[in-house]
Amino acid sequence: MAVFVRQAILNQVREKKLAHAYLIETNNLLEFEKELKEILKIILCEEDNEYCNSCQQCHFIDSDNHPNIIRISPDGVNIKIGQVEELQKKFSTKAFFGKYNIYIISEADKLNQTAANALLKFLEEPEENIIGLLLTTKKDLVLPTITSRCQILTEKFDICEDNNGLKENATRLLDLTSSITGIYDVKDYIGSLEDKNDLKHIFSYLLHDELEKGKEFNLRKVKIYHRFLEKIKYNVNMELLLEEFIIEMSEVK
Ligand SMILES: [Zn+2]
Repeated sequence: MAVFVRQAILNQVREKKLAHAYLIETNNLLEFEKELKEILKIILCEEDNEYCNSCQQCHFIDSDNHPNIIRISPDGVNIKIGQVEELQKKFSTKAFFGKYNIYIISEADKLNQTAANALLKFLEEPEENIIGLLLTTKKDLVLPTITSRCQILTEKFDICEDNNGLKENATRLLDLTSSITGIYDVKDYIGSLEDKNDLKHIFSYLLHDELEKGKEFNLRKVKIYHRFLEKIKYNVNMELLLEEFIIEMSEVK
């Protein structure tokens, strides 16, 4: 597996030469997510040597609940100015905890023009303790005003690395949603997953798969996948969550 971005950032942490914004291009955002967690730890861990997995910073990152990490993903088809403004507001009022405030923008190619302009303020007048990680699979579609102000890193994964049956699990979940009686099979479905974290990746896969359809995508589905992807971060009752998902999906043609 490629570890180029991780290594590049580790070197920069050691040399104390972190950039204030990175544009990270990868051919597989899902796969990169695993590495992203490590990268966040490398930047924020209280220990000097890579990361320790036991300090408060590492714990917050593991629980996807770090008070100084803000993540923005497309709200529907693109990233809107309100989302960027909210980020700026949070970082201007938030008490500082740890070494850096970090914002992550998933699918930076989906920043619309006004959102990108708002973001430029961050990029042009960088505050020392703010770091941006902008992720994309389509670097050429990122606005040049953004690209030119970021350090660009690339991470390519082997395409043949199948996402551990992710596609199969996603298809099975969609099968459950084709009728409301699917809720009776939720327990079995959850039992069949190797790891409860899989569900997060499955929703993420469904979202990307739908968006890949280009103009043909179904906005209602995208919104549902997106919402459940957010919910799953806070919801521990997978059974209830999936039942709710099936009910909502059964109403979408
Ligand atoms: Zn640590």
